[in-house]
Amino acid sequence: MAELETFGFENEDIRGGIYEKYKAKKNNVDRVGILFTDPKAMFAGAKVHFNQRFFLCKKGICCEKCGLPKWRVGSAIIKYGTDKQGALRTPFSYEILPWIFSETTYIRLKNINTEFPLASHDMKISCTNEEYQHLDLTPCNESIWQAKDELKKKILEEAKPVWEYVKKGIASDMSIEEIRDLLNAGSVGGGGAVDPTSKLDLDKVLDSV
Ligand SMILES: [Zn+2]
Repeated sequence: MAELETFGFENEDIRGGIYEKYKAKKNNVDRVGILFTDPKAMFAGAKVHFNQRFFLCKKGICCEKCGLPKWRVGSAIIKYGTDKQGALRTPFSYEILPWIFSETTYIRLKNINTEFPLASHDMKISCTNEEYQHLDLTPCNESIWQAKDELKKKILEEAKPVWEYVKKGIASDMSIEEIRDLLNAGSVGGGGAVDPTSKLDLDKVLDSV
């Protein structure tokens, strides 16, 4: 796995909108595959906090003020051209997208992977809550992008810049000073910073009540 890059606030790639990040949509089934060259490096991830933005945990003031850090994970995926039920459209088409998600989704992927290795199976994704990306994941029988060597080669080549984007898009790498400034500014302004991942957990708890 490559090293994460370090930068201040000058990085324009993250919100530059070069690639739209993958998001599941309600009442819609997507068929996707996780792209990789090494099955041991399918994902990039880091422990992060959220306060107005995701930033890397530095095990200090961030944890004191924001609580325990959570994993944020990303991968490059292929999203096939399908109808709303996830059935492939002809002619064959696809998009390659960055996908960045919470530890909850990672754990779901891991569970599927024990029965259907995601290195050799696409999956169908639908969502019950678009805003918080509560996803339903169903493995498919095959991995289309790997079915033909030539196609696979082409797709992996196209995935390279997307993969770089994923690594940068996990979280901002801020210095302790910058984190302190961010957190102080947040508290002076009366907050307003809601951690979407803790909201996600709350929803889950309430669902099972
Ligand atoms: Zn921390």
